[in-house]
Amino acid sequence: MIDYSPLYQHLAATPLAHWLDDLPSALTKRLDGVNHGDLQRWQKAVERLPKAQPSSIDTATAVRVGLSADIDPSKHALFEQALLDLQPWRKGPFEVFGITIDCEWRSDWKWQRICSHIDLTGRTVLDVGCGNGYHMWRMWGEGAQTVVGIDPNLLFYNQFAAIKKYIPDSPVWQLPFTLEELPEPTGGFDTVFSMGVLYHRRSPVDHLLQLKACLRPGGELVLETLVVEGDVNACLLPEDRYAQMRNVWFLPSVAMLERLLRRSGFRDIRCVDINRTSIEEQRSTEWMQFQSLTDFLDPSNSQLTIEGYPAPMRATLIAVRP
Ligand code: SAH
Repeated sequence: MIDYSPLYQHLAATPLAHWLDDLPSALTKRLDGVNHGDLQRWQKAVERLPKAQPSSIDTATAVRVGLSADIDPSKHALFEQALLDLQPWRKGPFEVFGITIDCEWRSDWKWQRICSHIDLTGRTVLDVGCGNGYHMWRMWGEGAQTVVGIDPNLLFYNQFAAIKKYIPDSPVWQLPFTLEELPEPTGGFDTVFSMGVLYHRRSPVDHLLQLKACLRPGGELVLETLVVEGDVNACLLPEDRYAQMRNVWFLPSVAMLERLLRRSGFRDIRCVDINRTSIEEQRSTEWMQFQSLTDFLDPSNSQLTIEGYPAPMRATLIAVRP
């Protein structure tokens, strides 16, 4: 179990002090795995991870924690098995005590495309839909003072807990909640990230307004989402699945996304990256053995998804709350 007391102390001195009214009890309730077999299994895997002190930590160029020699040799097999018990690992890669967790996504490639466009030095950051926290560690590595991530997925939460176990003093915190579940007002963050979330929302403008409410005036939103080619009126709403994903709603053009941001009250909007997802960036691995992007594309035309829609293309936009 993660010790949140340093986070609580930090929040007490911020505009988010009222979070302390409900957060501790909401966390206990969410993580009480009495009726959730998987959750108990994942929590036990994290508990089984042997104690170790990393001799080095690098989150600036990768997420690399410790060396193989930092772990008692008799515990190596146990260590690797506990990590394997937290499969599937989707976002990464992580290097922990000499083991490379080769995840489905090369999340480091996405970070590489984004990080040169932002300055996180000394900032308080919120990562909405943080997955297992991969990018949160990189945000800390870029000089952020405090990083809070939210994601309702409890497997990803336990993957985060596995890494946090070896960097307990880091100002990086994952909370197992959705954006909508956060206690309002949510404001005060210098930078808010929403990466890979907007297209899962049925109401994209509401999502943008909620993200704006998390920012202080002058704060910066980093928004990454699926887009399609086209002019300011172009948007794809799939009939059902998109690249086999359920729960996909609006895929706007970049021009429409810029307009959505303007209409939601953001200013200084700029698109800093557009990237077609490659089968090298998203693929099955030993740590994520289910199907992946190759299986979700049309076998005779990799420009199309298996449903016949344009293949995944992602854009990153940065915008300011006035
Ligand atoms: N941001 C990471 C992960 C993207 S996957 C990246 O860019 O690689 C999208 C994540 O958003 C999932 O882990 C999912 O659990 C989470 N998510 C979905 N709806 C959410 C919501 N309403 N609030 C917070 N997180 C949400």
